[in-house]
Amino acid sequence: MALRAAVFIDKDGTLVHDVPYNVDVAKVRLREDAGPALARLQAAGYALVLVSNQPGVAKQLFDEADLEPVWADIRQRLSRHGVALEAVYWCPHHPYGGHPRYGSECDCRKPRPGLLLRAAAERGFDLARSWLIGDILDDVEAGRRAGCRTVLLDVGSETEWESGPWRQPDGVAASLTAAAEHIAAAPPIPESLPWTR
Ligand SMILES: [Mg+2]
Ligand SMILES: [Zn+2]
Repeated sequence: MALRAAVFIDKDGTLVHDVPYNVDVAKVRLREDAGPALARLQAAGYALVLVSNQPGVAKQLFDEADLEPVWADIRQRLSRHGVALEAVYWCPHHPYGGHPRYGSECDCRKPRPGLLLRAAAERGFDLARSWLIGDILDDVEAGRRAGCRTVLLDVGSETEWESGPWRQPDGVAASLTAAAEHIAAAPPIPESLPWTR
């Protein structure tokens, strides 16, 4: 069976306006063009997957269960545009968190690629044909380390611009609409053949 391609989308600052450590659905605001932009990617055949660092769990600012209404709210808002998020993967860890289970290093906190690798393994995504959209270079690095192409949503979130071999995005976009356009216009990568996987 052919593997599918995904677009991995960062949440805070990318899909929604960033409110640090927020789990109050009343404060969740999608970017204005999020619905149409994601609808376009979905129509192009991409599975849509959120990938989010949520260190507030490790820092004991909220529980994992407190995130569920946030994901449900985002799904519902997107559904008004005909967009179905396939899945949400999040990292609850932080190396300096006080949480007994999550206050540690992990392989899934971006810039590490664990969230994307897990999603691909569980859901059958071809990472080489997949993309990541994020608003900081740590997102770009996670995407590239997973073997995806990446678009940096340049909306002022990145302030350090630490360079590195994994931190060059394939595209830079000022809006989700432009990010979706970049992905739609990029040359397709052929489906990987089973014996090359
Ligand atoms: Mg972000
Ligand atoms: Zn993690």
